[in-house]
Amino acid sequence: MRKVLLSEDEMPTHWYNILPDLPEPLPPPLHPVTKEPVKPEDLKPIFPMALIKQEFAEDRWIKIPEEVREVYALWRPTPLIRAERLEKALKTPARIYFKYEGASPPGSHKPNTAVAQAYYNAKEGIERLTTETGAGQWGSALCFATKLFDLKCTVYMVKVSYHQKPYRRVLMETWGGEVIPSPSDRTEVGRKILEQDPNNPGSLGIAISEAIEDAVKHDDTNYSLGSVLNHVLLHQTIIGLEAKKQLEVIDEKPDIIVGCVGGGSNFAGLCYPFIRDARKDGVRIIAVEPTACPTLTKGEYKYDYGDTAGLTPLLKMFTLGHDFIPPPIHAGGLRYHGDAPTLCMLVKHGIIEARAVSQISTFEAGVMFARTEGIVPAPETNHAIRVVIDEALKAKERGEEKVILFNFSGHGLLDLQAYDDFLYGRLKDT
Ligand SMILES: *Cc1c(COP(=O)(O)O)cnc(C)c1O
Repeated sequence: MRKVLLSEDEMPTHWYNILPDLPEPLPPPLHPVTKEPVKPEDLKPIFPMALIKQEFAEDRWIKIPEEVREVYALWRPTPLIRAERLEKALKTPARIYFKYEGASPPGSHKPNTAVAQAYYNAKEGIERLTTETGAGQWGSALCFATKLFDLKCTVYMVKVSYHQKPYRRVLMETWGGEVIPSPSDRTEVGRKILEQDPNNPGSLGIAISEAIEDAVKHDDTNYSLGSVLNHVLLHQTIIGLEAKKQLEVIDEKPDIIVGCVGGGSNFAGLCYPFIRDARKDGVRIIAVEPTACPTLTKGEYKYDYGDTAGLTPLLKMFTLGHDFIPPPIHAGGLRYHGDAPTLCMLVKHGIIEARAVSQISTFEAGVMFARTEGIVPAPETNHAIRVVIDEALKAKERGEEKVILFNFSGHGLLDLQAYDDFLYGRLKDT
């Protein structure tokens, strides 16, 4: 079987919340000024109540609103595809499956949470959302989602990506969003950074600071985050829940689950629904990050801010420091100094493995994928594919019939400059 498709009425009705199933209670987020545990009211200037509740929810299952499922049905359930041609090219006995999240209109997994967040904000009377974007994937997902619920959207886009990836800006503007290169002179944070360094290439941390400042200063405006927070990872679990059903249809169980990690949302979305079973069956779950931004493999596990300016609550996570500015690699979505607190805890407990891979090796993997399976992956996704290929080759050496499942987080049709750089030898490893 080449691919497994579910019908619309087989789409999951609930998201899976990992909080009650963690090996120890999650250390609470701390207030940036008082350093006391954050109270739900503290988050009200930037988030709707429904999402604040989800952030702290202890229920294992949370119902997906009908209105959200209706929008999901534009592209969900997404296919689970067997990468048989890649297996053949590798001459591996492993069976490789990928969940194709590139099927959404913006081309990645990100609308799974963007749609939910736009819905809850609209329901609570908010008129505009602000956010940051790295490669432009999250910004385009939120512009797409806000338009469907009649909200305005302001996107602070990391400056290096704004210039490297003009087509994502066009996509955001086509969906009616406003896009501002960050650091910008729109906010106090941005103005301060530009004074010190007019050529600052920007980072997700800086753009987050700008988007939050904008939201806090306007009553009709909330802020929206594309990764890291519990409620974002919650919304992404629809990926793994579908994948689980699809594997059941063909009577398969994964031995190895792989995903790339920027803040952790697509990875958690795929693997969290498998974790309870995986811990029993010895399934290996591998989180892949760039060597240029090695949060899980080289970071320190401690409380740190989510943004550069220190406006966000402190989260207990692996971090490279909130003032860390990673080199401008093409996988813009993986240039974040921290990671989701639940994911960090699972790594700390050894339930999830972490691995870092270098940029050029990821493009070698991505091009091999494109030349066998046809789909051109996003540079972020190439990180997962690198490790999938490495694991498939190990299985070949050992003659093991491993079942490898990975998340194809997005397609790379708006990242062709990166492929051009790779194909013509202009890519560098830092
Ligand atoms: C944003 C993005 C990522 C990284 O974000 P996570 O929150 O870690 O999932 C990975 N792949 C693609 C295609 C992205 O757009």
